[in-house]
Amino acid sequence: MSASDLPAREAMEFDVVIVGAGPAGLAAAIRLKQLSPETSVVVVEKGSEVGAHILSGAVIDPIGLDRLIPEWRGEETLARTAVSVDRFYVLGSSGALRLPNLLMPPLMSNHGNFIVSLGDVCRYLARKAEALGVEIYPGFAAAEVLFENDAVAGIATGDMGVAKDGHHKASFTRGMELRAKYTFFAEGARGSLSKTLIERFGLAQNRQPQKYGIGLKELWQVAPEQFRSGLVQHTMGWPLGNRTGGGSFVYHFGDNLVAVGFVVHLNYQNPYLSPFEEFQRFKMHPLVRDTFGGGKRICYGARAITEGGWQSVPKLAFAGGALIGCAAGFMNVPRIKGSHNAMLSGMLAAEHAAAALAEGRAHDELTDYDAAWRGSPIGRDLWRVRNVKPLWSALGTAVGVALGAADMWTNTLGFSLLGTLPHGKPDFATLKPAADCRPIAYPKPDGKLTFDRLSSVYLSNTNHEEDQPVHLIVRDRALQKASEHDVYGGPSARYCPAGVYEWIEQGGQLRYVINAQNCVHCKTCDIKDPNQNINWVPPEGGGGPNYPNM
Ligand SMILES: Cc1cc2nc3c(=O)[nH]c(=O)nc-3n(C[C@H](O)[C@H](O)[C@H](O)COP(=O)(O)OP(=O)(O)OC[C@H]3O[C@@H](n4cnc5c(N)ncnc54)[C@H](O)[C@@H]3O)c2cc1C
Ligand code: SF4
Repeated sequence: MSASDLPAREAMEFDVVIVGAGPAGLAAAIRLKQLSPETSVVVVEKGSEVGAHILSGAVIDPIGLDRLIPEWRGEETLARTAVSVDRFYVLGSSGALRLPNLLMPPLMSNHGNFIVSLGDVCRYLARKAEALGVEIYPGFAAAEVLFENDAVAGIATGDMGVAKDGHHKASFTRGMELRAKYTFFAEGARGSLSKTLIERFGLAQNRQPQKYGIGLKELWQVAPEQFRSGLVQHTMGWPLGNRTGGGSFVYHFGDNLVAVGFVVHLNYQNPYLSPFEEFQRFKMHPLVRDTFGGGKRICYGARAITEGGWQSVPKLAFAGGALIGCAAGFMNVPRIKGSHNAMLSGMLAAEHAAAALAEGRAHDELTDYDAAWRGSPIGRDLWRVRNVKPLWSALGTAVGVALGAADMWTNTLGFSLLGTLPHGKPDFATLKPAADCRPIAYPKPDGKLTFDRLSSVYLSNTNHEEDQPVHLIVRDRALQKASEHDVYGGPSARYCPAGVYEWIEQGGQLRYVINAQNCVHCKTCDIKDPNQNINWVPPEGGGGPNYPNM
């Protein structure tokens, strides 16, 4: 059935439509209502509920919350643990060197920060937003951007009830059009609609390529004797080699909970590398392995993060809309923090949209928002760390991070000897042919401390309607075989943290199997496929992981 044969979509009009109920989208919604209670605001969220697709560390810098909801510290409804101990280590295969806090640039300090579940923070923000009159629709994915006279005029949610082969099932329901004077895209790292808008409006022109990492995380309930409330511990080095960037976090919070996670920079070169297996191996290090003895793993998930920072943030505004949060890439890589900037950017965009609406404007470009961020606290946060990632990529962990730390120190004093360094290649272009690399032998999981992918995905509570079109679109199957498989050795089978991709030999034929129902929406395939041949589009709303508190 062609689009013109379909029944018309129902349309609703709002002042502002927001795509994504993460910290950026919800902060924007709240700020709009604080400034002007009569502004109509709607938020759509592809997760089955607010927080279901939120995965973070998370140690949060409270600057965003303090500015948005000054009374939050006095409220008990937002669970948090104040950071009490802050440690940073460089790991070797069996030893660990602790870096004295005094050597660390002050911006790296976590004192005054809080350990939270970012999913819980989003649920708290959603309650605040709804109390102010914001409409929130979880379970609806924004699948299409609506345009009028080349200006964004809102979004359409995806149709529901389409079968794998494209026919309409009895449950078929047409998507809805949510039309608005301004539309904010708050989809987080590598947003699917944001990607098309960056392309269409040339928003990344004259910018460095956006850079990414994949972050994997487990939540553990640990034995009481292993729990150190408020401990925040970061590492870099082992198990990654010097030429592969990344590191770990371990946060003790709440009631004997430990969030343990591992980030691998997606400009890695060896196609045999598996971020998931590196994470499992990291947990075996003597510095951390005892933490999990007698404990129970209760949740698992993964999500991409942006790493380009200052140099890579695209133009934020275009006719009728704006990018906010990690959809634009406001993550501070050395601090491993982005939620504070996500909130601040949502508030900043809201303030400029509220001013425009008050002047009777609509569907034009919020140029003042774009002009304001570099001089705001977001810009100050990203400016001081702008050379860490380029140095790390160019010189490796040992030298690159040491020079990066020196540059952070000089920036703290108000200058840099290096100017602003470029990032170089986009992440999809960094893999070497498999023939030039050594396969990596990872240890077998023991089922107690280390696990396989499928039992891990089970703990992400991922669920998709199985009879629907595959949402991981391989544009050219022949190219996937000739290049992804034959040249690069099939890296998707290793970088995907959910075991979605498999190359299977059957009856002398090689098949590329896509287990789309396992996808945890991390977006790594959309970023790292060496030919940009995989396009992630939203599946039916409500599908995907169901993180209770990640
Ligand atoms: C492993 C890891 C550890 C991290 N640790 C920290 C930390 O300790 N401290 C910190 O401050 N930051 C941390 N971050 C970064 C932080 O999580 C992000 O900066 C922050 O979540 C960005 O907020 P956001 O609102 O822009 O996007 P997100 O939090 O990604 O939220 C986007 C929301 O939009 C929804 N969405 C996306 N596309 C659509 C669509 N088309 N239709 C409808 N809904 C859609 C998603 O489901 C999601 O709910 C970490 C990130 C990772 C991955
Ligand atoms: S299929 Fe892609 S988006 Fe889904 S979990 Fe795998 S790498 Fe992530």
